[in-house]
Parts: sequence; structure tokens; C-alpha cells
Amino acid sequence: MIRSRFLWKLYAGYAVLILVSAALVGVLTARQIERDTLDEIRDSLRARAAMLKQAAWPASRGESAETLQSRVRALGEEIHTRLTVIRSDGTVLADSEKDPARMDDHSNRPEILAARSHGFGTAIRFSNTLETRMMYVALPVRSGNHLVGFVRASLPLSVIDERLDHLRSIVVFGAAVAALVALVLGFFMARGFAAPLASMTAVAESMSRGDYNQRLPVGRSDEVGRLAEAFNRMARSLRERMERITTDHNKLLTILAGMVEGVIAVDREERIMHLNAVAADILGTSEDDAIDKKIWEVIRVPEVCDLIATVLRRGTQAGREVHLVGTERNLHLQLQAAPLRDGEGRPVGAVVVLHDVTELHRLETVRRDFVSNASHELKTPITAIRGLIETLINDRRMDPETHDRFLERIADQANRLDTLVNDLLALSRLESAELVLEHTPTDLGKIVHEVVDTIRPSADRKGLALTATLPTGGAKISGDREALRQMAANLLDNALKYTPCGGRIAVRLRVEQEQAVLEVADTGIGIEPQHLDRIFERFYRVDKGRSRELGGTGLGLSIVKHVVLAHGGEVTVTSTPGSGSTFVVRLPLASDEPA
Ligand code: ADP
Repeated sequence: MIRSRFLWKLYAGYAVLILVSAALVGVLTARQIERDTLDEIRDSLRARAAMLKQAAWPASRGESAETLQSRVRALGEEIHTRLTVIRSDGTVLADSEKDPARMDDHSNRPEILAARSHGFGTAIRFSNTLETRMMYVALPVRSGNHLVGFVRASLPLSVIDERLDHLRSIVVFGAAVAALVALVLGFFMARGFAAPLASMTAVAESMSRGDYNQRLPVGRSDEVGRLAEAFNRMARSLRERMERITTDHNKLLTILAGMVEGVIAVDREERIMHLNAVAADILGTSEDDAIDKKIWEVIRVPEVCDLIATVLRRGTQAGREVHLVGTERNLHLQLQAAPLRDGEGRPVGAVVVLHDVTELHRLETVRRDFVSNASHELKTPITAIRGLIETLINDRRMDPETHDRFLERIADQANRLDTLVNDLLALSRLESAELVLEHTPTDLGKIVHEVVDTIRPSADRKGLALTATLPTGGAKISGDREALRQMAANLLDNALKYTPCGGRIAVRLRVEQEQAVLEVADTGIGIEPQHLDRIFERFYRVDKGRSRELGGTGLGLSIVKHVVLAHGGEVTVTSTPGSGSTFVVRLPLASDEPA
């Protein structure tokens, strides 16, 4: 507070005012007092002169010079005043202080001249006789109309000066005390004015630094008190608004950060105001690098920059799709941009949302491929059946042997169609697995055992050694018995199909770390490494001709994968071309707790 510049400025102005006023009042008062005192002394001298006129003059005519002189001297001593009696021609008849014989002609003294012409004369001057400054007052003495002389009363000014000095020092002291009191009071008054201002400045400064919790003391009912109240209200409302803005801002940031879409906001000069992590990732930049830069300086995707420029220019929404092809990425983006407006609806920038639709595109491609593959797979046996039937119809004289062979081939193709349709249905069922799959406690060991038993005649026919190692206590899992059976059957069926005569198929089921692990190993043709990743795709076959020949649909492993995933497990394959393949399925064991 004591360092407040305002306080000192206010106080300095006030102090100057006080000092000037005190000085002015002091000087004027001193002058007035001086004037009054001189007037008073003059009046008093006049009265004394008048008294001298009465006391000394009537006697002067009949008295000897010595008697007059001693009377005047005695009178002067009595009233502490120098008294002089002068004849009209200027000769000094008597003087209370000096010998009149030694005194020169007084007719030219200013007080005598003034008394002669105006009836009263006064002067202040240095007295050669007494060698000091004196005040003189002279009165004429008349006898009838005839001027006979003058009486004069005078006082040395040292006496008057002494009195005046005393009076002046009283005035100066009074003015100084008044000024001091005024200065002290003024300081407290100035502080009274400056203190609320200093507090308001301090609060305003802390508000500008973002601290809205400071409040001013409100203890006065005057304008300052009302101002402090208004100030506090403003601080409260600002704090509420700032809190609301901060909450909204944080909410917005959280939403933007949590969005799966990329979001970029730019101002009217195309400078990036905000860019969320997803947008930074998609566009290969970082928030720190991008903020406050022009969008085209940071983002190397011309379509995004063009779209922003269009929206800023037109002030309307716009969208488009972009295919980003880079060394590492192959992204399909759906861009949607809209203008940003302030509270009054004025455009302040634009925002663009980047929606990564790569997965949608992939699914669309997969769907399209699937439809085309499925149609093709269905068409093949249908075309064959139609051709065979047409030949049968057209060739009425066909020999019975060929006729039977044709019918057998029709039956084969019909079976193939049936298998295909069954596999397609199984797949479609599995794709909505959560809806249709049952999750009942099941012993995988029992299922594998049954499948091995079903397949064993075929293995025997083909001369394959089929061994099964199953855990004695079984492997309890929670699942859909039919789907799991199909999974095991498909794996065994493949092993059977792709293992030449004389080979071996080993089925092993064990329980390991809360998992049921099923291994189907064969000594068959194996799979080249480049196909391993793809064999679980629908309709993917290493060798189409061989697969068809063996009655495969290209959907077997796809069904296996779906069943395993639907049961929360995983399937892997290892293979050595020419030596054999091993498929490993891991499924979680059923928990012991009752459901
Ligand atoms: P398919 O009906 O043609 O057998 P799958 O989906 O069951 O279809 O298998 C996909 C492809 O994976 C097969 O065409 C085959 O090339 C290969 N394959 C699957 N199992 C084996 C295996 N045990 N040995 C060698 N190749 C296999």
C-alpha cells in the first residue's frame, strides 16, 4: 500500500495544495497583521502627538526653553515615546531624546510637510539623530487660524519590528501547525482513497493472471463500497463463466481426444487451431508441430486443404472421399467439413472430420469377393448338372452304362452343391455366432473321439495310420457341440485329403494352462509358407484343381477359424512342404464355477 504510486501522486498534489495555501494564508495574514499593527502604532503615535499638543504646547509660549525641554523629556520617558516640539519655521523647541539646540531645521521633514499641508503627517525613515529607523507622526499646532508649530511623536522601528517579528512567527507557527495537521490528515485521507483502488488493482491483476478467487473487503456504504461490491460480483460471475468455459473446453477436448474420427479445426486464415491425436496419426504429423501453422504447410494431403479452402470460401458444408496411398498406409478417408461460426454467426474458421473408412472398404471388398466366389462356386456344379441333364435329354439313345455314369456324375455334383450350401450356411451361422451358438458344458475329448471314429474307415481305406491321444479326464469346455464337432471334422478331413497313401495322421488333445489344446498333425503334402496366412480365408485354396477334385469347398478352414474365435480360442498352423502340417487349436477350459 505504502508503495502505491497513486497514493503518492494523490498525496503530492494534496501536499502542494496544502503548502501553497498555508504559505499564501501565512503571507497574507502576516501582511495584514503588519498593516494593522503599523496602523495601530500610527494611531497610537497620533494620540500621543495629540496629547503632546495639549500637554506641551500651551505652556511653551510662556515657558523657558529648558522647562519645556525637561517637560517633554519627562513626558517622553513616561510614555516610552520620542516626543518633539517644533516651531512653524522648523526650529526644534524641545525633544525628549536629544538636545534641541543641536537638532537641525525640521521644516523639510516629510511628516512635517504632510502635517503642514494635510493636517496630519507620518513617515518611516532613518533618523540621523538617533541613528535608527523610526516611525514619525506629526500634527500641526494652530492658534486660531495661525500655524504656530508642530508636535511629533515617534517610535524606533526596532520596537515595531520586534513586535511584528513576534506576530509573524506566531502566524508562521500557526500556518506550519495547520499545514502539518492538514498533511497528516491528508495522508490518511489519500490513503483512504488509494487503499480501495490499490486493492482493486491487485485483484484485477490477479484476475488477469487467471485467479478469480480474490475478493475485496466490503465495509463501506459509499460509492467505493458499492464499487467493491460490483467488483466482487464481477469476479464471482467471471469465475463461474471461466469455470463453465474450462469445463466445456475440457469436455470438448476429452470428446475430441476420445473420438475415433480425426478432427482438425482451422481459423479464417487456414491456421490450425486444433488437431486431435487421431487426425495427427492419420495425416502423419503431431499436434505440437501443427498448431498455429497454415494447414497446407503441415498437411500434405491436398484434398483436405482444398476441402477446407472450399468451406471457408463458400461458408457451407462439404464432403468427399480420399484414398491415401503411401509407403506404409493405404487408407480410405471420408472427409466432412463445416464452417465454424462465433456467437453472432460470423464465420471464424472451419472444422474437418476425417473418418477412416478403410475397414468398411475392406469389408465391402471382402463381401464383393465372397459373393462373386460363392456365385462362381455354386455355378460350377450347377453348370455341370445342367450340361449332363441336357445331354441326357438330347441323347435318347444313350447306352445304359454311359447313362448311369452321367447320373452318378449328376449325383456327385449335387452332393458338391449340398456340401457347398451346407458350408455356406455354417459360415453364415457362425458369423452371427453370438446369436445362434449354444454355450453348454462339453467334453472336447468326447467330440474328438467321435470324429476320429467317424473318419477312421476313410483313413483305413486310404491306408493312413490314424492315432488319437486323448486325456483320461477329458477336456471340459463351454461351447456348441455341433460347431466344435464340425471344427474337428474339418481339420481331420483336410489331413485325410492332403495326406497321400501310407501317411500318418496324429490327433492329440491335452489340457494345458487352463486350455484345451487340440493338435491335428499329418505327414501330407504341407503348405508353402506364403499361403499360411491366407488359408483361413473363405474360398482360399493353395491348389484349386486338387481341392475341387478332393471335394473341397475352400470354406473348411474358414469355418474352423470362426468356430474357434466364437469360443474365445485361437488356431495356428505350422507346416513343411512335402513333410506335413500341424494345426493347433487352443480353447479356454470351462470354469468350475456354476454358471
Ligand atoms: P478345402 O475345402 O479346399 O480343403 P480349406 O479351407 O479346408 O478348403 O483349406 C484351405 C486350403 O488349405 C486347402 O485348399 C489346402 O490347399 C490347404 N490345406 C488345408 N489343410 C491342409 C493340410 N492338412 N495339408 C495341406 N494343405 C492343407
